Order: sequence, then structure tokens, then C-alpha cells
Amino acid sequence: MNIILLGPPGAGKGTQSAMLVEERGMRQLSTGDMLRAAVKAETEVGLRAKAVMERGELVSDEIVSALIDAELAAMGPETGAIFDGYPRTEAQARALDEILASHDRQLDFVIELEVDEDALVDRITGRFTCARCGEGYHDRYKLPRQEGTCDKCGSHEFKRRPDDNEETVRTRMAEYRAKTAPILPLYDARGIVRRVDGMAAIDAVKQGVDAILD
Ligand code: ADP
Ligand code: ADP
Ligand code: ZN
Repeated sequence: MNIILLGPPGAGKGTQSAMLVEERGMRQLSTGDMLRAAVKAETEVGLRAKAVMERGELVSDEIVSALIDAELAAMGPETGAIFDGYPRTEAQARALDEILASHDRQLDFVIELEVDEDALVDRITGRFTCARCGEGYHDRYKLPRQEGTCDKCGSHEFKRRPDDNEETVRTRMAEYRAKTAPILPLYDARGIVRRVDGMAAIDAVKQGVDAILD
């Protein structure tokens, strides 16, 4: 199974991916996570991407498609892929078609998480993650069960992304509207788009996703 989770920043792609990984043994391929790792490691890609990401603009198609190709090449053929935050442009969607074909894979579904833009700033500015294991949280919608302690690994350290501020979120939303939303018709024409109400509670969204994949 190979699926794309599509939706603007804060739609819940990472949150839903993490649950699919846990329950279905699929692999999450998040270009955002890969780029953040590259920035942290100060690789050539990281050095090129850092300022672009801080502004909330899109990193070049060549860079992100190469990252995805390398990840898929390292995966066993039986492991399903969840594309999270990729593709984000028409050029990336075309590149993904070629990459998948070269790895003998086929796209099963594009799951669009439909959300109101007004809710996104709120979601993004309240987002934080465990510094050790990466588990995602929210100041109001998903607090750790025990205050200050990660549910998953017990760590007491959390972090927030430098680009999760209101100004950058507006740029990221505009990028989504201008460059990413236009790839939906491409997949619609193939009959593989499924829509889920991303405004529902996390568990309800999960049920919607599960209903598509089961
Ligand atoms: P994305 O990966 O699409 O940018 P995330 O999964 O990181 O989005 O979610 C953004 C923030 O919103 C996180 O803090 C997450 O805990 C929270 N969140 C995710 N899904 C929901 C939901 N259905 N309802 C409320 N908050 C949510
Ligand atoms: P979010 O979870 O809020 O949707 P991501 O973690 O997916 O954000 O992406 C963070 C930043 O990394 C983006 O604003 C962009 O600069 C860069 N990025 C991630 N994925 C891509 C991609 N597929 N194409 C271009 N830039 C990307
Ligand atoms: Zn943790």
C-alpha cells in the first residue's frame, strides 16, 4: 500500500501518519522531517534548505524528490509508504510517478484532510513534539497524559519548530493554496482521491482514514 496524505500545514498529516506507522507497520516519508534532519546535521541539502524553510517557502523540487527516491530505495518492497508533505507541486507529483514506477510501486490513495484555514494557525502555534522520540502534541488538543512527560518514551524534554509562528504559517498556507492544492485534480482524474473531515477530533479523523484503508 502506498498513500499520500495531503492537506495544508497543521491539517494533521503527521499525527495520522504516526498512528498508521504504529498500527499498520507502514513507513512515514515526511520530506519536512528529512529536511529538518538535514538542517540539524548541516549537510549540503540542509544548508541550502534552512533559510527557505524559515521563511515558509518551498524547497526545490529536485532536492525533495531526491530525498524521497533515496528513502524508497532503502525500503523493503513489502513495506507500505505514507507520503507526508510530499508531493507539494505538480513537478513533484510527476517526479513521484516516475520514482514509484522505478521502485515497482503503485499509488493506492490520496487522502485529503479537509480543514478550515482559520483553524490552522491555532493548530500550528500550539504544536510541540517530544525532543527524544518525536511524538506530536498540542497545547490544547493533545496534551501528554501526565503533564511534562512524553506518553510514548517518558522524556521530559519537548521542542517547538522555529517555523511554527503565525507569520510563517500564513506564507505556508499561501504556498499550499497556490502550488499544492492544484495537484488534486491530477489525482482526482485517476479516481484515487478520498476526502476526510480533518476538523473532527483526532480519533474521528483516524476512523475516517481507517475506513479508507481497511
Ligand atoms: P501536519 O503534519 O499536517 O502539519 P500535525 O499532525 O503536526 O499537522 O498537526 C498539527 C497540530 O495539530 C499538532 O499539534 C497536532 O497535535 C494537532 N492536531 C492534529 N490533528 C488534530 C485534530 N484532528 N484536532 C485537533 N488538533 C489536531
Ligand atoms: P507541515 O507539517 O507544517 O505541513 P512540513 O514539516 O511538511 O510542514 O514542512 C516544513 C517545511 O519544509 C516547509 O514549509 C517547506 O519549506 C519544506 N518542505 C517540506 N516538504 C517539502 C516539499 N515536498 N517541497 C518543498 N518544500 C518542502
Ligand atoms: Zn517521547
